[in-house]
Amino acid sequence: MLKPGATIGILGGGQLARMLALAAAPLGLKVHVFAPAGDNPAFEVAGAHTVAAYDDEAALAAFAAAVSVVTYEFENVPAETAAFLAARVPVLPGPRALAVTQDRIQEKTFINAIGLPTPGFAAVDDLATLEAAVAALGRPCVLKTRRFGYDGKGQTLIRPETDLSQAWEAVGRQPSILEAFVPFLREVSVIAARGASGDVVAYDVCENEHRHHILAATRLPATLGGTAAHAAIEHAARIATALDYVGVLAVEMFVLAGPDGERVLINEIAPRVHNSGHWTIEGAETSQFEQHVRAVAGWPLGSARRLGRIEMSNIIGDEADGWERLVAEPGLHLHLYGKAEARPGRKMGHATRVFPG
Ligand code: AMP
Repeated sequence: MLKPGATIGILGGGQLARMLALAAAPLGLKVHVFAPAGDNPAFEVAGAHTVAAYDDEAALAAFAAAVSVVTYEFENVPAETAAFLAARVPVLPGPRALAVTQDRIQEKTFINAIGLPTPGFAAVDDLATLEAAVAALGRPCVLKTRRFGYDGKGQTLIRPETDLSQAWEAVGRQPSILEAFVPFLREVSVIAARGASGDVVAYDVCENEHRHHILAATRLPATLGGTAAHAAIEHAARIATALDYVGVLAVEMFVLAGPDGERVLINEIAPRVHNSGHWTIEGAETSQFEQHVRAVAGWPLGSARRLGRIEMSNIIGDEADGWERLVAEPGLHLHLYGKAEARPGRKMGHATRVFPG
Protein backbone atom coordinates (compact mmCIF):
# COMPACT_ATOMS: atom_id res chain seq x y z
CA MET A 1 0.00 0.00 0.00
CA LEU A 2 1.43 3.37 -1.04
CA LYS A 3 1.78 6.06 1.61
CA PRO A 4 0.74 9.69 0.97
CA GLY A 5 3.71 11.42 -0.64
CA ALA A 6 4.51 8.40 -2.82
CA THR A 7 4.77 8.84 -6.59
CA ILE A 8 2.67 7.07 -9.22
CA GLY A 9 4.28 6.78 -12.67
CA ILE A 10 1.97 7.20 -15.66
CA LEU A 11 2.85 6.14 -19.21
CA GLY A 12 1.26 8.54 -21.69
CA GLY A 13 0.77 12.29 -21.43
CA GLY A 14 -2.72 12.93 -22.80
CA GLN A 15 -5.95 14.05 -21.17
CA LEU A 16 -6.47 10.78 -19.31
CA ALA A 17 -3.07 11.11 -17.63
CA ARG A 18 -3.90 14.76 -16.93
CA MET A 19 -7.15 13.85 -15.16
CA LEU A 20 -5.39 11.03 -13.25
CA ALA A 21 -2.80 13.54 -12.02
CA LEU A 22 -5.55 15.96 -10.99
CA ALA A 23 -7.22 13.16 -9.00
CA ALA A 24 -4.01 12.04 -7.29
CA ALA A 25 -3.21 15.49 -5.86
CA PRO A 26 -6.03 15.71 -3.26
CA LEU A 27 -5.02 12.28 -1.97
CA GLY A 28 -1.51 13.55 -1.30
CA LEU A 29 -0.04 11.35 -4.03
CA LYS A 30 2.42 12.61 -6.63
CA VAL A 31 2.64 11.68 -10.29
CA HIS A 32 5.48 11.38 -12.75
CA VAL A 33 4.36 11.26 -16.39
CA PHE A 34 6.49 9.50 -19.02
CA ALA A 35 5.66 10.29 -22.65
CA PRO A 36 7.39 10.71 -26.00
CA ALA A 37 7.84 14.25 -27.37
CA GLY A 38 4.63 15.85 -28.60
CA ASP A 39 1.63 17.66 -27.20
CA ASN A 40 1.41 16.25 -23.67
CA PRO A 41 -1.32 18.12 -21.73
CA ALA A 42 -0.63 16.04 -18.61
CA PHE A 43 2.79 17.65 -18.12
CA GLU A 44 1.20 20.93 -16.99
CA VAL A 45 -0.35 19.30 -13.92
CA ALA A 46 2.25 16.65 -13.08
CA GLY A 47 4.98 17.25 -10.50
CA ALA A 48 7.53 15.48 -12.68
CA HIS A 49 7.74 14.33 -16.27
CA THR A 50 10.11 12.56 -18.62
CA VAL A 51 10.15 13.08 -22.37
CA ALA A 52 11.56 9.94 -23.96
CA ALA A 53 10.69 7.16 -26.36
CA TYR A 54 9.07 3.99 -25.00
CA ASP A 55 12.17 2.00 -25.97
CA ASP A 56 14.66 4.34 -24.24
CA GLU A 57 15.89 1.92 -21.57
CA ALA A 58 18.02 4.44 -19.69
CA ALA A 59 15.03 6.78 -19.38
CA LEU A 60 12.71 3.90 -18.42
CA ALA A 61 15.14 2.68 -15.73
CA ALA A 62 15.39 6.18 -14.23
CA PHE A 63 11.59 6.50 -14.34
CA ALA A 64 11.15 3.11 -12.60
CA ALA A 65 13.58 4.20 -9.89
CA ALA A 66 11.64 7.43 -9.30
CA VAL A 67 8.15 5.94 -8.79
CA SER A 68 6.46 3.38 -6.51
CA VAL A 69 4.08 1.95 -9.11
CA VAL A 70 3.56 2.41 -12.85
CA THR A 71 0.22 2.65 -14.61
CA TYR A 72 -0.79 3.79 -18.09
CA GLU A 73 -3.42 5.85 -19.87
CA PHE A 74 -3.52 3.85 -23.10
CA GLU A 75 -3.50 0.19 -24.06
CA ASN A 76 -0.88 0.33 -26.79
CA VAL A 77 2.06 0.52 -24.40
CA PRO A 78 4.64 -1.73 -26.09
CA ALA A 79 4.82 -5.13 -24.35
CA GLU A 80 8.62 -4.76 -24.08
CA THR A 81 8.23 -1.43 -22.26
CA ALA A 82 5.78 -2.95 -19.78
CA ALA A 83 8.06 -5.98 -19.22
CA PHE A 84 11.16 -3.80 -18.75
CA LEU A 85 9.36 -1.70 -16.13
CA ALA A 86 7.67 -4.69 -14.45
CA ALA A 87 11.10 -6.18 -13.72
CA ARG A 88 11.84 -3.08 -11.61
CA VAL A 89 8.56 -1.77 -10.18
CA PRO A 90 4.93 -3.00 -10.02
CA VAL A 91 3.02 -2.25 -13.25
CA LEU A 92 -0.76 -2.08 -12.78
CA PRO A 93 -2.95 -3.23 -14.46
CA GLY A 94 -0.62 -6.18 -15.11
CA PRO A 95 0.85 -7.46 -18.39
CA ARG A 96 -2.02 -9.92 -19.00
CA ALA A 97 -4.53 -7.08 -19.32
CA LEU A 98 -2.29 -5.38 -21.90
CA ALA A 99 -1.63 -8.56 -23.87
CA VAL A 100 -5.32 -9.48 -24.04
CA THR A 101 -6.58 -6.02 -25.00
CA GLN A 102 -3.87 -5.15 -27.55
CA ASP A 103 -5.09 -7.76 -29.99
CA ARG A 104 -8.76 -7.93 -30.99
CA ILE A 105 -8.61 -11.69 -31.70
CA GLN A 106 -7.06 -12.47 -28.32
CA GLU A 107 -9.55 -10.12 -26.67
CA LYS A 108 -12.66 -11.74 -28.14
CA THR A 109 -11.24 -15.26 -27.65
CA PHE A 110 -10.65 -14.44 -23.97
CA ILE A 111 -14.15 -12.97 -23.56
CA ASN A 112 -15.77 -16.06 -25.08
CA ALA A 113 -13.51 -18.37 -23.03
CA ILE A 114 -14.91 -16.92 -19.80
CA GLY A 115 -18.42 -17.52 -21.06
CA LEU A 116 -19.36 -14.01 -22.24
CA PRO A 117 -20.90 -13.06 -25.59
CA THR A 118 -19.26 -11.14 -28.46
CA PRO A 119 -20.25 -10.64 -32.09
CA GLY A 120 -19.19 -13.56 -34.29
CA PHE A 121 -15.63 -13.11 -35.55
CA ALA A 122 -12.83 -14.73 -37.54
CA ALA A 123 -9.11 -14.07 -37.98
CA VAL A 124 -8.04 -12.64 -41.34
CA ASP A 125 -4.43 -12.85 -42.53
CA ASP A 126 -4.74 -12.43 -46.28
CA LEU A 127 -7.30 -12.01 -49.06
CA ALA A 128 -8.09 -15.74 -49.13
CA THR A 129 -8.91 -15.91 -45.40
CA LEU A 130 -10.93 -12.68 -45.80
CA GLU A 131 -13.02 -14.29 -48.56
CA ALA A 132 -13.61 -17.39 -46.45
CA ALA A 133 -14.49 -15.35 -43.35
CA VAL A 134 -16.97 -13.16 -45.28
CA ALA A 135 -18.60 -16.31 -46.66
CA ALA A 136 -18.89 -17.70 -43.12
CA LEU A 137 -20.11 -14.55 -41.32
CA GLY A 138 -22.18 -13.02 -44.13
CA ARG A 139 -22.55 -9.39 -45.23
CA PRO A 140 -22.59 -6.74 -43.92
CA CYS A 141 -19.58 -7.29 -41.72
CA VAL A 142 -16.78 -5.17 -40.27
CA LEU A 143 -13.07 -5.63 -40.98
CA LYS A 144 -10.74 -4.24 -38.30
CA THR A 145 -6.99 -4.40 -37.80
CA ARG A 146 -6.10 -6.73 -34.94
CA ARG A 147 -3.89 -4.15 -33.27
CA PHE A 148 -3.66 -0.38 -32.73
CA GLY A 149 -7.23 0.47 -33.65
CA TYR A 150 -9.14 3.18 -31.80
CA ASP A 151 -12.00 5.58 -32.50
CA GLY A 152 -12.84 3.64 -35.66
CA LYS A 153 -9.32 3.91 -37.10
CA GLY A 154 -8.18 0.83 -39.02
CA GLN A 155 -11.65 -0.49 -39.77
CA THR A 156 -13.95 -0.73 -42.75
CA LEU A 157 -17.54 -1.83 -43.31
CA ILE A 158 -18.02 -4.57 -45.90
CA ARG A 159 -21.39 -4.05 -47.62
CA PRO A 160 -23.12 -6.38 -50.09
CA GLU A 161 -21.37 -4.62 -52.99
CA THR A 162 -17.93 -4.08 -51.40
CA ASP A 163 -14.96 -5.44 -53.33
CA LEU A 164 -12.96 -7.55 -50.87
CA SER A 165 -9.55 -6.70 -52.28
CA GLN A 166 -10.38 -3.01 -51.71
CA ALA A 167 -11.45 -3.75 -48.12
CA TRP A 168 -8.18 -5.62 -47.60
CA GLU A 169 -6.29 -2.56 -48.93
CA ALA A 170 -8.36 -0.28 -46.67
CA VAL A 171 -6.98 -1.94 -43.53
CA GLY A 172 -3.45 -1.79 -44.93
CA ARG A 173 -3.26 -5.58 -45.53
CA GLN A 174 -2.52 -6.05 -41.85
CA PRO A 175 -3.48 -9.02 -39.68
CA SER A 176 -7.13 -8.32 -39.02
CA ILE A 177 -10.38 -9.53 -37.52
CA LEU A 178 -13.66 -9.84 -39.37
CA GLU A 179 -16.74 -9.28 -37.22
CA ALA A 180 -20.39 -9.89 -37.95
CA PHE A 181 -22.19 -6.55 -38.25
CA VAL A 182 -24.30 -5.99 -35.14
CA PRO A 183 -27.62 -4.21 -35.79
CA PHE A 184 -27.45 -2.64 -32.37
CA LEU A 185 -30.14 -0.48 -30.80
CA ARG A 186 -27.69 1.41 -28.64
CA GLU A 187 -24.09 1.37 -27.42
CA VAL A 188 -23.31 1.22 -23.72
CA SER A 189 -20.27 0.82 -21.51
CA VAL A 190 -19.55 -0.24 -17.96
CA ILE A 191 -16.75 1.40 -16.01
CA ALA A 192 -15.57 -0.84 -13.19
CA ALA A 193 -12.69 -0.81 -10.76
CA ARG A 194 -10.99 -3.78 -9.11
CA GLY A 195 -8.93 -3.18 -6.03
CA ALA A 196 -5.72 -4.88 -4.94
CA SER A 197 -7.69 -7.16 -2.64
CA GLY A 198 -9.99 -8.32 -5.47
CA ASP A 199 -13.07 -6.26 -4.63
CA VAL A 200 -14.95 -4.90 -7.65
CA VAL A 201 -16.93 -1.65 -7.75
CA ALA A 202 -18.89 -0.77 -10.91
CA TYR A 203 -20.59 2.45 -11.96
CA ASP A 204 -24.05 2.46 -13.47
CA VAL A 205 -24.27 1.54 -17.17
CA CYS A 206 -23.39 4.45 -19.48
CA GLU A 207 -25.25 5.04 -22.75
CA ASN A 208 -22.89 6.26 -25.46
CA GLU A 209 -23.55 8.12 -28.66
CA HIS A 210 -20.79 7.99 -31.27
CA ARG A 211 -20.44 10.34 -34.24
CA HIS A 212 -17.94 9.49 -36.97
CA HIS A 213 -16.72 6.64 -34.69
CA ILE A 214 -15.78 9.11 -31.94
CA LEU A 215 -17.65 9.30 -28.64
CA ALA A 216 -19.89 12.38 -28.80
CA ALA A 217 -22.02 12.03 -25.68
CA THR A 218 -22.59 9.82 -22.63
CA ARG A 219 -25.91 9.79 -20.76
CA LEU A 220 -27.11 8.13 -17.56
CA PRO A 221 -29.25 6.40 -16.69
CA ALA A 222 -28.89 4.29 -19.82
CA THR A 223 -32.01 3.18 -21.68
CA LEU A 224 -31.63 -0.48 -20.82
CA GLY A 225 -33.87 -3.07 -19.18
CA GLY A 226 -32.98 -4.20 -15.68
CA THR A 227 -31.92 -7.71 -16.72
CA ALA A 228 -29.59 -6.47 -19.46
CA ALA A 229 -28.16 -3.76 -17.21
CA HIS A 230 -27.49 -6.31 -14.51
CA ALA A 231 -25.82 -8.61 -17.06
CA ALA A 232 -23.66 -5.77 -18.39
CA ILE A 233 -22.31 -5.02 -14.93
CA GLU A 234 -21.78 -8.71 -14.18
CA HIS A 235 -19.84 -9.08 -17.45
CA ALA A 236 -17.47 -6.22 -16.55
CA ALA A 237 -16.91 -7.64 -13.06
CA ARG A 238 -16.22 -11.11 -14.45
CA ILE A 239 -13.69 -9.70 -16.96
CA ALA A 240 -11.88 -7.72 -14.25
CA THR A 241 -11.66 -10.78 -12.01
CA ALA A 242 -10.57 -13.15 -14.80
CA LEU A 243 -7.75 -10.75 -15.76
CA ASP A 244 -6.71 -10.46 -12.09
CA TYR A 245 -7.05 -6.78 -12.86
CA VAL A 246 -6.06 -3.91 -10.59
CA GLY A 247 -7.38 -0.49 -11.62
CA VAL A 248 -10.25 0.92 -13.67
CA LEU A 249 -11.38 -0.68 -16.90
CA ALA A 250 -14.13 0.02 -19.40
CA VAL A 251 -16.14 -2.60 -21.25
CA GLU A 252 -17.94 -1.36 -24.37
CA MET A 253 -21.04 -3.26 -25.40
CA PHE A 254 -23.77 -3.30 -28.04
CA VAL A 255 -27.42 -3.53 -26.97
CA LEU A 256 -29.48 -5.82 -29.15
CA ALA A 257 -33.16 -6.63 -29.31
CA GLY A 258 -33.74 -10.30 -28.47
CA PRO A 259 -36.73 -12.61 -28.24
CA ASP A 260 -36.64 -12.39 -24.43
CA GLY A 261 -35.91 -8.65 -24.21
CA GLU A 262 -32.71 -6.72 -24.71
CA ARG A 263 -29.31 -8.31 -24.37
CA VAL A 264 -25.71 -7.12 -24.64
CA LEU A 265 -22.73 -8.25 -26.73
CA ILE A 266 -19.21 -7.19 -25.76
CA ASN A 267 -17.33 -5.13 -28.35
CA GLU A 268 -14.14 -4.06 -26.61
CA ILE A 269 -12.26 -3.83 -23.31
CA ALA A 270 -10.22 -0.72 -22.52
CA PRO A 271 -7.69 -1.45 -19.73
CA ARG A 272 -7.73 2.12 -18.46
CA VAL A 273 -9.91 5.02 -17.46
CA HIS A 274 -12.30 5.79 -20.30
CA ASN A 275 -13.97 8.73 -22.01
CA SER A 276 -17.44 7.35 -21.19
CA GLY A 277 -16.48 7.63 -17.49
CA HIS A 278 -15.57 11.33 -17.48
CA TRP A 279 -19.00 12.18 -16.01
CA THR A 280 -17.91 10.50 -12.76
CA ILE A 281 -15.75 13.55 -11.88
CA GLU A 282 -18.84 15.52 -10.85
CA GLY A 283 -21.54 12.87 -11.22
CA ALA A 284 -20.39 10.13 -8.86
CA GLU A 285 -19.26 9.96 -5.29
CA THR A 286 -15.76 8.86 -6.41
CA SER A 287 -14.47 9.70 -9.90
CA GLN A 288 -13.07 6.99 -12.15
CA PHE A 289 -9.70 8.78 -11.93
CA GLU A 290 -9.62 8.75 -8.12
CA GLN A 291 -10.82 5.15 -8.22
CA HIS A 292 -7.92 4.17 -10.49
CA VAL A 293 -5.42 6.01 -8.28
CA ARG A 294 -6.87 4.28 -5.20
CA ALA A 295 -6.65 0.87 -6.86
CA VAL A 296 -3.05 1.14 -8.08
CA ALA A 297 -2.02 2.64 -4.74
CA GLY A 298 -3.48 -0.41 -2.97
CA TRP A 299 -6.04 1.76 -1.20
CA PRO A 300 -9.69 0.82 -0.61
CA LEU A 301 -12.02 1.71 -3.49
CA GLY A 302 -14.55 4.50 -3.07
CA SER A 303 -18.30 4.49 -3.63
CA ALA A 304 -19.44 4.53 -7.27
CA ARG A 305 -22.84 5.96 -6.35
CA ARG A 306 -24.28 8.22 -9.06
CA LEU A 307 -25.37 11.67 -7.93
CA GLY A 308 -28.02 12.45 -10.54
CA ARG A 309 -29.04 12.25 -14.15
CA ILE A 310 -25.99 12.78 -16.34
CA GLU A 311 -25.18 14.33 -19.70
CA MET A 312 -21.55 14.43 -20.78
CA SER A 313 -20.63 15.92 -24.17
CA ASN A 314 -17.23 15.79 -25.75
CA ILE A 315 -15.79 19.00 -27.14
CA ILE A 316 -14.23 18.02 -30.43
CA GLY A 317 -12.03 20.04 -32.80
CA ASP A 318 -13.14 23.64 -33.24
CA GLU A 319 -16.12 23.15 -30.89
CA ALA A 320 -13.58 24.32 -28.30
CA ASP A 321 -14.02 27.83 -29.78
CA GLY A 322 -17.42 27.84 -28.03
CA TRP A 323 -15.85 27.76 -24.56
CA GLU A 324 -17.16 31.22 -23.58
CA ARG A 325 -20.78 30.14 -24.04
CA LEU A 326 -20.16 26.86 -22.20
CA VAL A 327 -18.40 28.35 -19.22
CA ALA A 328 -21.29 30.82 -18.79
CA GLU A 329 -23.89 28.04 -18.49
CA PRO A 330 -24.97 27.57 -14.87
CA GLY A 331 -24.29 24.07 -13.58
CA LEU A 332 -22.12 23.06 -16.54
CA HIS A 333 -18.75 21.60 -15.60
CA LEU A 334 -16.26 22.57 -18.29
CA HIS A 335 -13.04 20.61 -18.82
CA LEU A 336 -10.54 21.83 -21.41
CA TYR A 337 -7.48 19.67 -21.86
CA GLY A 338 -5.07 22.45 -22.82
CA LYS A 339 -4.16 20.97 -26.19
CA ALA A 340 -2.20 23.31 -28.41
CA GLU A 341 -4.00 22.65 -31.69
CA ALA A 342 -7.72 21.96 -32.38
CA ARG A 343 -7.43 19.48 -35.26
CA PRO A 344 -10.70 18.06 -36.66
CA GLY A 345 -11.79 14.99 -34.68
CA ARG A 346 -9.43 15.77 -31.80
CA LYS A 347 -10.84 15.57 -28.27
CA MET A 348 -10.25 19.05 -26.85
CA GLY A 349 -12.36 18.83 -23.71
CA HIS A 350 -15.70 17.75 -22.33
CA ALA A 351 -18.70 19.25 -20.55
CA THR A 352 -20.72 17.49 -17.86
CA ARG A 353 -24.19 18.39 -16.62
CA VAL A 354 -25.58 16.69 -13.51
CA PHE A 355 -29.34 17.06 -13.03
CA PRO A 356 -31.26 16.20 -9.88
CA GLY A 357 -32.93 12.80 -9.96
P1 AMP B 1 -14.36 -0.12 -32.16
O1 AMP B 1 -13.12 0.55 -32.69
O2 AMP B 1 -14.33 -1.60 -32.23
O3 AMP B 1 -14.74 0.39 -30.80
O4 AMP B 1 -15.55 0.34 -33.12
C1 AMP B 1 -15.92 1.71 -33.26
C2 AMP B 1 -17.39 1.83 -33.55
O5 AMP B 1 -17.71 1.16 -34.79
C3 AMP B 1 -18.30 1.17 -32.51
O6 AMP B 1 -18.50 2.02 -31.43
C4 AMP B 1 -19.54 0.92 -33.35
O7 AMP B 1 -20.30 2.11 -33.48
C5 AMP B 1 -18.99 0.53 -34.70
N1 AMP B 1 -18.81 -0.94 -34.77
C6 AMP B 1 -17.69 -1.61 -34.40
N2 AMP B 1 -17.85 -2.94 -34.55
C7 AMP B 1 -19.10 -3.14 -35.01
C8 AMP B 1 -19.86 -4.31 -35.36
N3 AMP B 1 -19.34 -5.55 -35.28
N4 AMP B 1 -21.14 -4.12 -35.80
C9 AMP B 1 -21.66 -2.86 -35.90
N5 AMP B 1 -20.99 -1.73 -35.60
C10 AMP B 1 -19.72 -1.85 -35.16
